[in-house]
Amino acid sequence: MKALVTGGAGFIGSHVVDRLVDMGYDVVVIDNLSSGKKEYLNDSAEFIHADLSREVPEIKVDEVWHIAANPDVRIGSESPAEIYDNNILATFNLLEMMRKVGNDRIIFTSTSTVYGEAEVIPTPEDYPTVPISIYGASKLACEALITSYCHTFGMKSWIYRFANVIGRRSNHGVIYDFIMKLKKNRNELEILGNGEQNKSYIYIDDCISAMFWGLKSDEAVNIFNIGSDDQIMVKKIAEIVSEEMGLSPRFVFTGGRRGWKGDVPIMLLSNEKLKKLGWMPKYSSEEAVRKAVRDLLDDLS
Ligand code: NAD
Repeated sequence: MKALVTGGAGFIGSHVVDRLVDMGYDVVVIDNLSSGKKEYLNDSAEFIHADLSREVPEIKVDEVWHIAANPDVRIGSESPAEIYDNNILATFNLLEMMRKVGNDRIIFTSTSTVYGEAEVIPTPEDYPTVPISIYGASKLACEALITSYCHTFGMKSWIYRFANVIGRRSNHGVIYDFIMKLKKNRNELEILGNGEQNKSYIYIDDCISAMFWGLKSDEAVNIFNIGSDDQIMVKKIAEIVSEEMGLSPRFVFTGGRRGWKGDVPIMLLSNEKLKKLGWMPKYSSEEAVRKAVRDLLDDLS
């Protein structure tokens, strides 16, 4: 079997590549290294340095794992065009390449932010999608392009809506931010918002196992939430990071319910659909956070 992994030099993508290589796949990675790192690339994978928003090399494969994107929810309010190019345009270009060469299976990494501020918690997959961030909107647009290509051109898709994914090689998000801030100033930690944002965090190993588990479902379009079964507050994450770094900083809150424009302060996804196929997350949000803090301190040492 041969797989193309876009974004295979990034955090989640590099773990997917490692798993595919372990399973005996031939793997080709396309990445523009905007946030990915060559050192994360599995030695057995072929690497093509390309920007999906400009050109997509034509490659015939059995599966396309489309993981490349600009994953930073925060930059959406400052540079919507950057999100459009790297998420929507890149996905359109990739689908066109797939249509031309006859690739017919795509696995796509979407996000909890497609739901916006859901009133039903845990939020199931059939809840209305009303994103409040440019990033969430871009991922929903990608989902729509993918499902339309499936129905129009006979492709199959697996669309995974992730909670916050954390662990080794992660280079953005709240844990990374807290560690970097504390490395600069051990005495004070700025926390965006009021610290009461309460969300689900899934450890990378659970996320990867869920992505492969979901392939057991074989509809034209297979949509699954992937998260842990509980939530953790941002101020608790700040406490865990401080404790693991052996520090007791003063917490300074910027205030307000949201950490940034488009931040969804309360998020927990229903995992029931994937659980019916037999998948279970191993770690709670708190366990995932503690493991991820140790991983990142190790990565950054
Ligand atoms: P990441 O930044 O580590 O990985 C993204 C990769 O895509 C990087 O290697 C980057 O260099 C590459 N890339 C970006 N734009 C590209 C382009 N135009 N052409 C080619 N390569 C490009 O981020 P991640 O956290 O590993 O996220 C992976 C995917 O999962 C993204 O689609 C993201 O939206 C999605 N996701 C992540 C989370 C999370 O918590 N990490 C949550 C929900 C969804």
